[in-house]
Amino acid sequence: MNITESTNNPMKEKIKVVVVGGGFGGAYTAKNLAALVDPNKVEITLVSKNNHFLFTPLLHEVASGGLTPTSVVEPLREILRGSNVHFLQAEVKAISEEKKFITISGEEIPYDYLVLSSGAETNYYGVLGAEKHTHTLKDLSDAITIRNRIIEACEKAALTTDENERRHLLSCIIVGGGATGVELAAEIVEYLEETICAYGKTQGLSQKDINVSLIAASAELIPQFPQALRRAAHEELTKKDVNVFTNAQAVSVSTHGVTLADGTVHSAHTVIWVAGVKPLRIEIPGATSDKGGRVITNQFLQVQGNNHIWCLGDVANFTPAGTATTPLPMLAQVAVQQAKTVAKNIHAVIVGQPQSPFVYKSKGLLISLGQWYAAGTIFNFNFRGPVMWWVWRTVYLFNFHSWRKRLKIAVEWTINLFYPRDITYLR
Ligand SMILES: Cc1cc2nc3c(=O)[nH]c(=O)nc-3n(C[C@H](O)[C@H](O)[C@H](O)COP(=O)(O)OP(=O)(O)OC[C@H]3O[C@@H](n4cnc5c(N)ncnc54)[C@H](O)[C@@H]3O)c2cc1C
Repeated sequence: MNITESTNNPMKEKIKVVVVGGGFGGAYTAKNLAALVDPNKVEITLVSKNNHFLFTPLLHEVASGGLTPTSVVEPLREILRGSNVHFLQAEVKAISEEKKFITISGEEIPYDYLVLSSGAETNYYGVLGAEKHTHTLKDLSDAITIRNRIIEACEKAALTTDENERRHLLSCIIVGGGATGVELAAEIVEYLEETICAYGKTQGLSQKDINVSLIAASAELIPQFPQALRRAAHEELTKKDVNVFTNAQAVSVSTHGVTLADGTVHSAHTVIWVAGVKPLRIEIPGATSDKGGRVITNQFLQVQGNNHIWCLGDVANFTPAGTATTPLPMLAQVAVQQAKTVAKNIHAVIVGQPQSPFVYKSKGLLISLGQWYAAGTIFNFNFRGPVMWWVWRTVYLFNFHSWRKRLKIAVEWTINLFYPRDITYLR
């Protein structure tokens, strides 16, 4: 089809752009593209499994009673309101690259241009029993499950008179020394010590029975952060009584706990697996992918060898041109920046202009280490402490799409300064 010609002829069908995935990559692409194109000539459809956008960076606060679950999600229809993007809540099962359609529950949705941003899922690396015996933190339901598991364990611990059983119930292992594991460990230990034990003091719940461990296969925690901040994270967790094990590789998990490569067994009632993710792929015929399964893209974020499909976010392997040999990390800020380029490039193709290569500009890295403490690197300077904690909070608030959620979270955080976190078991 001659696209430029078709946009000038009102009798021709609209150009169809289909975006798969309503997360950081997909939702922002759809929104950005809608702002660039003429809705009379281009039809944009966003297809996503859930009808909400999930703000993953604050999931650990839901898992530890700091935020209510609905605070970290925004309805996609609300995000797209007034933007001429059609939304379909559906799971994409297949892509026909040759005939240019996607399949959702037996129905075919045609496209002229396709954007794939289906994200990632937990990687258990084939570790025996890991998927069966651990909880993970990837979706909203995971955060609610972890929160419920901890609350339920504490209620049981308040009932038992057996000291060993009580200690076991109040023990938690987090496997994964990346940012999610570190943030989660800091929040969970505070949740157990400052909130749940305070409530259950009269029934024998005591800080001395709590045992939170963080197990990392790497030599240091948060390896992607500068060394000063890696050390700061380790120190802060140790100060909070988290047992940190580095160079410790989990080889199996059972109902009793985690076995490490050196043969030691760490027992815990709750085991959380946040050791890594892998791309959530929908097969694109003819596309090439790297060893980990991420789809390799060219400099314009198009799937290599296919100029009708763009791929971004966690599912894409974009390796910057030049000296870089590793792809960009799986981060929300990468996906959001890529979404801008993908929208611009689709628009450029539609109007017959050249595309722009994607250039990533890191805005820095931030990590929270419980209430009142965060560490980060901004413009190559390292910062840590309570002020950084406020910066961290403000930065994240402004990454939400709506003021409604920003205000809701700001109010919840303010309430948390004066009252203990919520310990309601959610059904
Ligand atoms: C707990 C946690 C904390 C994190 N913290 C940070 C942080 O602090 N900073 C940071 O930069 N990054 C963080 N990340 C990483 C960040 O969330 C991802 O890099 C980012 O979400 C990637 O965007 P995406 O669009 O590729 O995927 P996602 O945002 O995951 O979106 C994928 C979307 O695709 C949908 N989907 C999947 N398969 C299909 C299908 N077959 N059909 C239809 N829809 C489908 C999903 O439902 C989802 O809506 C965190 C991740 C986690 C899990």
